[in-house]
Amino acid sequence: AIRAGLGAIGFVLPNFSGKEESVKQFISRHLGPEVFSKMIDPFVSGVYAGDPSKLSMQSAFKKIKALEDLGITQGLVEGAIIRLRQRKREAPPPDPELPTYKGGSLGSFKKGLGMLPEAVRSRLTDSRVLLSHSVEDIVHDAESEYPYRVTLARSDGSQVIVNTKKLALTTPARATASLLRQNLLKGQEQVLSALESVVYPTVFSVTLAYPNEAFREPLRGFGNLIPRSMKVRTLGTIWSSCLFPGRCPEGETLLLSYIGGDQDQSIKELSEEQVAKQVHEDISKILLKDGAKDSVQPRIVGVRKWDRAIPQYNIGHGAVIENLLKEVDARYANGLYLGGNYLSGVAFGDCVLWGTETAGEIRKQLDSEAESKKSPKVSQTASAVA
Ligand SMILES: Cc1cc2nc3c(=O)[nH]c(=O)nc-3n(C[C@H](O)[C@H](O)[C@H](O)COP(=O)(O)OP(=O)(O)OC[C@H]3O[C@@H](n4cnc5c(N)ncnc54)[C@H](O)[C@@H]3O)c2cc1C
Repeated sequence: AIRAGLGAIGFVLPNFSGKEESVKQFISRHLGPEVFSKMIDPFVSGVYAGDPSKLSMQSAFKKIKALEDLGITQGLVEGAIIRLRQRKREAPPPDPELPTYKGGSLGSFKKGLGMLPEAVRSRLTDSRVLLSHSVEDIVHDAESEYPYRVTLARSDGSQVIVNTKKLALTTPARATASLLRQNLLKGQEQVLSALESVVYPTVFSVTLAYPNEAFREPLRGFGNLIPRSMKVRTLGTIWSSCLFPGRCPEGETLLLSYIGGDQDQSIKELSEEQVAKQVHEDISKILLKDGAKDSVQPRIVGVRKWDRAIPQYNIGHGAVIENLLKEVDARYANGLYLGGNYLSGVAFGDCVLWGTETAGEIRKQLDSEAESKKSPKVSQTASAVA
C-alpha cells in the first residue's frame, strides 16, 4: 500500500528507456507490482482478454497514460485531479434527450445489444440498409461524382453495386486489409500486412444458470474478475441476473463468463462441452458452496466461441494505425473513413461514438461540398449583375 500510495502521488521513476511501455511496465513503475497483479491484470483481462506484458499502455489505455504528463509530478493522482477539473470546465451540458445513468456502471439494452442496429434500421428505409451483404471489392474513380464503387455479394451469390461519395469502412482489421489491398492501397504491402497481423485471440462466452442455494452467499454486484496469479482459467464472470432483471427464472442466478484470450491460446482446441465444464469448475472454486462442483450441475444456457474476439493494442499498434491512416489520408482524405474496434477503441461505446462522430463529419463534408458547388454560380451571377 505504501509503494502504491507513494507512486500515485508522484514518487515515480521516469521511463528511462524512452521506449513504448507495456501496461505491466507502466503500472508496475507507477504503482508497484502488487497493484498490477491484483487490480490491473484482472481489469486488462476483462477489457482486452489480453496479455498486459504485450499490450501498449499508450495505445490500450491512452487516457490513463496521458495523466502522467499533466502535472508537475508524474503522479497519476495529480494528473487525474487536473483532468477532472479540465473536464468540468470543458464538458458540454448533457443532452436532455438522452437518459441519465450512473457513471462506471454496466449497461445493456432490454433485449440485448442487437436492439441498437435494429433501431437504426427501422428509422431508415429498407432500401437504404443492406444486411448480410458482404463487401467484395471497392474501386475509386476520382473523376466520378460518386467516386467509390462498392461491389457487395448477397448470400445467394448475386451482386449489388453501390456508388457513393463517401465510404466508412468498419470491417475488422484483416478484412479491411484484404479489401484495401485489391485497389485502394494496392502495393502498400508493409502497411497492409502490419494491419493484417493485429492479434485477435479466441474467447469463449459461457452462460450458465445455477440454483440460488448453490452460492456461498447471495450475489450482489456486477461480477468478478480473476487475477491470472490465482491460476484459475476463467477470466471473469458477469452476474447477469443481478445486473439485468428478467434474464432468468425466479430461484436461479444467471452468470456470463469469459474464458480464453491472449494468455490462454490453447483454449481454441477445446470443445464447447469442455469449456463449459472448465467454467463450472472455476465458478465452483470462487462462488459456490464447498462440494458444489460435483453436487450441482448448472443449466448450460449458451456457449459461444469467438474465434477472433478482440483486437490487441499491443506494443507497436499505434504505429500500425498511424501509418495506415497516413496512407489513406494521402489518397482519400474526406472520402474514405476507416473505423472499427481495431482503431476506435475496443469498448462498444467507443465504436458507437466513432460512428456518430464520423456520420456528423461526413454530413458536414457533403454539405460544404454542395455549398462550394453552388458558390461559383453565385459569383458568376454577381459579376453579371455588376
Ligand atoms: C465476447 C466479447 C465480449 C465483449 N464484451 C464487451 C463489453 O461488455 N463491453 C464493451 O464495451 N465491449 C465489449 N466487447 C467489445 C465490443 O463488443 C466490440 O469491440 C465492438 O462491438 C466491435 O464493434 P465493431 O463494429 O468494430 O466490430 P464487429 O462488431 O466485429 O463488426 C464488424 C462487422 O464486419 C463484418 N464484416 C467482416 N468482413 C466483411 C465484409 N467483407 N463485408 C461486409 N461486412 C464484413 C462482420 O460480419 C461484422 O459484422 C466484447 C467483445 C467480445 C468479442
